[in-house]
Amino acid sequence: MKKSILLLLTLTLIATACTKQIQTASLTSSTEVSNIAVVRSEKREKCNCEDANEYIPDDRFPEYQDLKIVKANFHFPNATNKEYNWTGDEAVTFAEKLINSCNYQLINNIKMNLPVGNDTPVYDAGYRIRLANDKNTPSGKAVYEDIDDENWFYIKKGKGKNNYSKTIIKKFAVNEDSILNFFAMAYPPDSLKVKGFSSGRAGIALGTSLKIAGVRKYPLKEVWKFASVTNHEIGHIFGLRHSWYKNDGCDDTPAHPNCWASTEDGKCAGVISNNMMDYNNIQRALTPCQIGMVMKTMHKENSRVRGLVKKDWCTYNPDKTLVVEKDLELNRAVDMKGDIIIEENVTLRLSCRTHMPAGAKIIVKAGAKLILNGAKIHNDCGQSWAGFDIQTKGTKSGSIEYLGDVKIENLTNDFSEESESEE
Ligand SMILES: [Zn+2]
Repeated sequence: MKKSILLLLTLTLIATACTKQIQTASLTSSTEVSNIAVVRSEKREKCNCEDANEYIPDDRFPEYQDLKIVKANFHFPNATNKEYNWTGDEAVTFAEKLINSCNYQLINNIKMNLPVGNDTPVYDAGYRIRLANDKNTPSGKAVYEDIDDENWFYIKKGKGKNNYSKTIIKKFAVNEDSILNFFAMAYPPDSLKVKGFSSGRAGIALGTSLKIAGVRKYPLKEVWKFASVTNHEIGHIFGLRHSWYKNDGCDDTPAHPNCWASTEDGKCAGVISNNMMDYNNIQRALTPCQIGMVMKTMHKENSRVRGLVKKDWCTYNPDKTLVVEKDLELNRAVDMKGDIIIEENVTLRLSCRTHMPAGAKIIVKAGAKLILNGAKIHNDCGQSWAGFDIQTKGTKSGSIEYLGDVKIENLTNDFSEESESEE
């Protein structure tokens, strides 16, 4: 008796499930997608994928804004006598300590001083610096001692000025397109004796390389003193401008007189800036818009400096699935590491470049809508992704709408089509 009740119950459950059965259509080629898509308009809706504000950290969706890792190597230019810069283990220690200090500041971002009384939010910068490895060096780290008797030093003003010179970079940079080359430079001892010689901590960003000067001025335990100037230069490399100007591209960095320290009276009296992209004795705060600007640059396809970012979005990670539970418009480029699932009756609008890792899918549940507003969906790693699952439940189906020119690239079955046409 008990058994038959159980059987009946099981059968009822199956029958109920069948009436709400979900059917899935898998689209694995761009032709299949465009066949099913409803073209709502020949024109895309207005959207600026280059707006830094669209890249500001959004606590609701960590899945598409994972940490970005910047790979760095270190150079310690020196004369043949090896007397002027850090060498051996000390050079490696300098590099490691400096990177740790830079990352500490990026993690522990601080609140803006300006404008007085502001309520500008404070976010983790969202990127970190990592020392690259090189099995050809004694330490196994990408730390190099470059010998050049004519170019080992740094002079930023007056006779022999060479801060802008790329000679040392052209000669010694390693993997410039994929690693940030960091030149830790010393001042020439002769110049240091000259009255008025500028010997403070200084730096300059030059393409995908940067120079920091004065690295022998402090003992190794005070390497952290170079973290602010280093982060400032890395900021330049990733598109940040000096923030004391009005036109730095960010509304949350007010214009100001760019004071090094606060004074009793005059233009530097009272509260001064603590922003990383000013010249001040703090140089720590990064605003949401500045973080957005860095992220925008890091996501820009074909930008040279994107190559410095570790390509860790190629491997599919099921823990990085983006589940869209409320209507969402993404007006920014995204490097996804997992699937995208659009829940029932929810709309997702993509308007910019979206990378999907190998094997990943976009699942459009019943009644859900995916609007592709002049969007490009591709795989950034030369692999293929698995396409769209369009679900139907009863009379309701998931749908895809095209607005303007949509590009769906690198789908599993696009590759085979290409190889056929080559014959
Ligand atoms: Zn600067």
